[in-house]
Amino acid sequence: MKFQPRASHFVNGVYVEDSAGAEIDVIYPATGDVIARLHSATPAVIDQALEAARAAQKAWARLSGTERGRVLRRAADIMRERNHDLSVIETHDTGKPIQETTVADATSGADALEYFGGLAGSLTGEHIPLAGGDFVYTIREALGVCVGIGAWNYPTQIACWKAAPALACGNSMVFKPSETTPLSALKVAEILMEAGAPKGLFNVVQGYGDAGAALVTDPRVAKVSLTGSVPTGKKVYAAAAADMKHVSMELGGKSPMVVFDDADLDNAVSGAILGNFYSSGQVCSNGTRVFVQRGIKEAFLERLAARVAMAKIGDPMDPEVSFGPMVSEAQMKTVQGYIDMGIADGARLICGGKKLEGAGYFLEPTIFADVTDGMTIAREEIFGPVMSVLDFDTEEEALSRANATEFGLAAGVFTSDLNRAHRMAAGFEAGTCYINTYNLAPVEAPFGGAKMSGIGRENSKSAINHYSETKTVYVSMNGVEAPY
Ligand code: NAD
Repeated sequence: MKFQPRASHFVNGVYVEDSAGAEIDVIYPATGDVIARLHSATPAVIDQALEAARAAQKAWARLSGTERGRVLRRAADIMRERNHDLSVIETHDTGKPIQETTVADATSGADALEYFGGLAGSLTGEHIPLAGGDFVYTIREALGVCVGIGAWNYPTQIACWKAAPALACGNSMVFKPSETTPLSALKVAEILMEAGAPKGLFNVVQGYGDAGAALVTDPRVAKVSLTGSVPTGKKVYAAAAADMKHVSMELGGKSPMVVFDDADLDNAVSGAILGNFYSSGQVCSNGTRVFVQRGIKEAFLERLAARVAMAKIGDPMDPEVSFGPMVSEAQMKTVQGYIDMGIADGARLICGGKKLEGAGYFLEPTIFADVTDGMTIAREEIFGPVMSVLDFDTEEEALSRANATEFGLAAGVFTSDLNRAHRMAAGFEAGTCYINTYNLAPVEAPFGGAKMSGIGRENSKSAINHYSETKTVYVSMNGVEAPY
């Protein structure tokens, strides 16, 4: 098989196999073909990976930040040089069009490695002067062994968004990719080794939820960073709490996008397209509840439908194709179920709704109008190409309905009224807000959710706080006064 890796896991600097683990078939979503066959990690492989990470971490943390950063920056360069090959793997693993993977996966992974590689040398504590010449200094310390657990929509990016800040701070990592997309994290491990990372610093173990759970509960682990759904997040957060482990939770969303009647309509339509149909809608921060002010509703829908009709659906390896299949048959069926619910609840189907003929897991980009707040398609995360358009009249109403959800990952507003844009951003209960754009996630900016959408932030200097802790050292220059 063309995409078969040398072995399932990457532990202590080498590929490792243990065929006693449950089989994992890697399927190309565009055809349904099995392109690789891997095994879930057995307890022995998990133990080996955690032991290797524990052994590597101390010496790595003793290097200077500049030395650690150099390895990450070299890895970024290698990743960019191999962007094409990595994108081909990512397209086969996820089904995302090569048009997307070429610009959004290995490239954003490389951005994270470069950014945190650059920061590593300037990670310091602080000096705090006190009365009488006493002072405190703080030391920024690594946490130890970190576990990363990934979702299937951006496998390379997720591995790098977790590994880069973790390693920059002096931690080591055991990463478990999603069982649906296990291939590219192995390439990240190879690249880090080639860039000079010591063996055991970044390990990859494959597996289903039970492998993830075994990692989360192991006493050698200091921190768990999960990208996944809210139900998984609750389980992982609770399991980590038993040992007071640090956590970062990047979870699901049902984000609002509010389009006022003074918005640049073409920009708003572009935002709605990017925020619903990029990666066939399998993006956590998608603005799937599009609130459109009543006066422009029909004009908005008309332009939207005309633009969406121009999507080129098909073979993801064709550079002209802009819309690929769902990641798996299971995900396609889940999304089809939601489409049926939208129709049954009386939403107006503007376009799409059907599966394409053939073996691949292709679903048409689907737009519902006249959606109301109580409908299931307006409340639950669908994680597929289904946009709900809802009407509103006033700013106050839009904001309160936008916030009426348990999720709080992202939110967007399109308007040409500057004050209103900032009022809305201030009022949104969401970790990441957009004004007159949608779904950007540059490494320089914090990314993460509020409410049920998560805890902690990835990217930017904020991520450093989630992969290190502060030790306070009090220094007396004046002797010790005791009462007796
Ligand atoms: P999922 O929750 O089913 O699985 C995520 C990962 O957790 C997988 O690797 C899985 O094997 C593992 N896992 C499952 N049960 C576990 C357990 N008990 N203990 C430890 N690990 C366990 O999510 P998914 O279907 O792979 O991904 C889609 C979800 O991810 C969506 O909800 C999406 O919004 C979310 N997501 C969030 C972000 C973000 O940054 N906020 C980014 C991408 C995806």
